[in-house]
Amino acid sequence: MASKHSKKTANTTAKAPVADAVNTAAECSCTNDLFHPTVEQFKDSITTHLRRSIGTSEKKASPLAWWQAVVYAVNELVFERLTQTQFTHASNDTRAVNYLSAEFLMGRLTVNNMCNLEVYDTCKKALAELGIDINELCDEEPDMALGNGGLGRLAACYIDSLATLKYPSIGYGLHYENGLFRQEIRGGRQVERPDSWREYGCPWEVCRPESTQEIPVGGYVEVQTAPDGTEQKVWHPAHMIKGVPWDIPVVGFRGASVTVLRLWESRATEQFNWDVFNAGGYVDAQEEKAQCETISKVLYPNDSTEAGKMLRLTQQYFFCACSLKDILRRYNRAHHHDYSSFASKIAIQLNDTHPTIAVPELMRLLIDEEGLSWDAAWKIVTEVFAYTNHTLLPEALEKWPVYLFERLLPRHLEIIYEINAHFLDGEVERMWPGDNEKRAKLSIIEEGPCRMVRMANLCVIASRRVNGVAEIHSKLVREQLFPEFAAIWPDRFCNVTNGVTPRRWLLACNPGLAELYNEVSGKDWPLHLESCAKMRPYADNADFRKRFMDVKHANKVALAAEIKKLCGVDVDPNALFDVQVKRLHEYKRQHLNLLYILSLYNELLADPAKTIVPQVFIFGAKAAPAYTLAKDIIYAINKIGERINNDHRIRNQLKVVFIPNYRVSLAEKIIPAADISEQISTAGYEASGTSNMKFSMNGALTLGTMDGANIEIVAEAGVENNFIFGLSVEEVQELKARGYNPWDYYNADPVLKSALDWLDTDYFTPGQAGALSSIKRSLLDHGDPFLVLADFASYRDAHKRVEEMYKDKERWARAAIINSASMGKFSSDRSIEDYVHNIWSLKSFDVAEHK
Ligand SMILES: *Cc1c(COP(=O)(O)O)cnc(C)c1O
Repeated sequence: MASKHSKKTANTTAKAPVADAVNTAAECSCTNDLFHPTVEQFKDSITTHLRRSIGTSEKKASPLAWWQAVVYAVNELVFERLTQTQFTHASNDTRAVNYLSAEFLMGRLTVNNMCNLEVYDTCKKALAELGIDINELCDEEPDMALGNGGLGRLAACYIDSLATLKYPSIGYGLHYENGLFRQEIRGGRQVERPDSWREYGCPWEVCRPESTQEIPVGGYVEVQTAPDGTEQKVWHPAHMIKGVPWDIPVVGFRGASVTVLRLWESRATEQFNWDVFNAGGYVDAQEEKAQCETISKVLYPNDSTEAGKMLRLTQQYFFCACSLKDILRRYNRAHHHDYSSFASKIAIQLNDTHPTIAVPELMRLLIDEEGLSWDAAWKIVTEVFAYTNHTLLPEALEKWPVYLFERLLPRHLEIIYEINAHFLDGEVERMWPGDNEKRAKLSIIEEGPCRMVRMANLCVIASRRVNGVAEIHSKLVREQLFPEFAAIWPDRFCNVTNGVTPRRWLLACNPGLAELYNEVSGKDWPLHLESCAKMRPYADNADFRKRFMDVKHANKVALAAEIKKLCGVDVDPNALFDVQVKRLHEYKRQHLNLLYILSLYNELLADPAKTIVPQVFIFGAKAAPAYTLAKDIIYAINKIGERINNDHRIRNQLKVVFIPNYRVSLAEKIIPAADISEQISTAGYEASGTSNMKFSMNGALTLGTMDGANIEIVAEAGVENNFIFGLSVEEVQELKARGYNPWDYYNADPVLKSALDWLDTDYFTPGQAGALSSIKRSLLDHGDPFLVLADFASYRDAHKRVEEMYKDKERWARAAIINSASMGKFSSDRSIEDYVHNIWSLKSFDVAEHK
């Protein structure tokens, strides 16, 4: 049927300037067979949904109701395409990737879906005719903040690219009731508030009760001996948890295909409650129910630190077990429990170690439930899984106490022991015969007073590929994190440099710049970001430079208004906007930035006549609620900002703002308005970074260290168009090996010394001397683990170079254009193609138009 004929038009359609040409025919079936409604049709659809789906009218509808009606109208197009996609994949029995991630930081979907379906302008006109402003309407949508930061946002960009590139795929994760906490700032301090993103329902998601799963937990394992003498392990779980799937369809650019994000919600099983009810335990039953439902209640707010809590392990197991059962169910629809082609149909990507438990769970399903032998099951497992490492930080490498496994997953623990025995007695013994030190180091089990399961070791042993997320990071993974594993399996290790979707991070969030790209690169640039290089020669064109910087200026005006609204601070759009937005972490060194601000403020106070380039330092960052020093840094930024912003002596030349509740929708407003992108992690600690890519695409210049993807960004855009400073990875390691002493830098640099000493006074916290001292103590008494003081002088020097270049408006504009035009490599489409060619071996499928 559709299989051989699906080549058709989808590849040629890219050239059709659809968005503008649609508003004539009622049944305009455009070249890529994606339906484009007219303005009239859209108006009709929205008002019909207002009345018939929501039960209100144009006169009474609240802003929220308007937004919901628009979503329903857009969803008609999405669902049509979803059905077509699923039909195409089913009828071709396609190989697919299953992307397992504990986090998907989706943000808002409305503008993105409208842009990807190329109906934004139509919808905007339709709404305008109905008297609604599209920007205000879209601000009604709560962010889907089901992630902490970079790792979760990466998963979201990858889903967008998978859909755009038409690869059969599905994202699996957790349906958290509460996403990452909402951050409020009170008295300068972070206060965490719950984020109930779907309190009034999320109109994008669809519940699929027919695909509910039941997941066993706890209990014990019984060894049964069959009449033929073979042993069989029988797990008697203590109880069952129900997993209910919620699907969020993600539509690719121009409706190329639709990838589903399937998120599991935990519920109590009825059967379980019945027993307790019958015993008269109504309250107990409710408590048990509450416990089951706790599993998907809340996202752990730690970024790059491990939680080590029973509930977190339960969450990981729960979503992996639901996902694997779902994968097996779908596979068996076509293959009827014949597992010989399982590995050729299925790839499973583990986004960090959070979904590692999928490895022993798949072993268990194949052996205990499907009757495969150990060897047959292990062969499948090692062909199916691949693992992405995201960090070298020791505090982020997951380890779970063995006793937690004994209580929650006794059967999985046995399987892990057996995998370990095979590995230690096999590969390790062959490579290093009789070497107990190597055995201890490589074992999945860490011995000690509290025995631990090392999830990363399990991942490496079970995966056919292990990748890092930028060239330098992948090298460190191979050479420093897993050198022995790399010696055993040299071909297993590879690199896939991260990327971000240009649909969200350029087309949707920066329409002014997108329009310039339409002019110089043609309208297909969101599919071929390399074609943005066509803008590079325009860096030499004075008219074009002006237009480019006019777009930047307009974005800065809009951000200034937002800052006024959110922080109550007036900032001048003509000032240099210097931005650091990302999770708050010592390795990201927001405090290095802050020390520079103190030194600059000090310079201005020392010489009141001094004139500098007016600068606005913009921060946005959430701190893990238990990370005291990170929260102290937020407090310091706010208190220092307060003092500086109200000091008339410096004549508005310097402003410092902390924008509360940094999240995807804020990033979309901040990044297009940035002049400087602060990417100042200690070299060797930021695996890749992805905001660095978003900023460069939008024409900011990077002020950064040679770390993560900064190295590759600068290689594309030129060091001369950015500001590189600080120790390299090798220099950091040498300095640490030699013995780093932060006091040497403190004593030798009077500028640094006075900035640090200022923190001990009550200058920024009147009457409360010492309120900011913890930062100084961490940098001196506690050894400055991230070499802030060692990099200070070089950072300060780089800032002076920034100021110098900013004075030369033409030089700056040239650099900004070249940066933006050089980011082709950092489209997540390129990353996905790398995964496809080096790891997943997928084929893309043009979506057929008819069922
Ligand atoms: C891109 C992004 C991140 C990652 O930022 P890094 O600077 O690479 O750590 C974090 N949070 C949000 C909301 C993002 O959009």
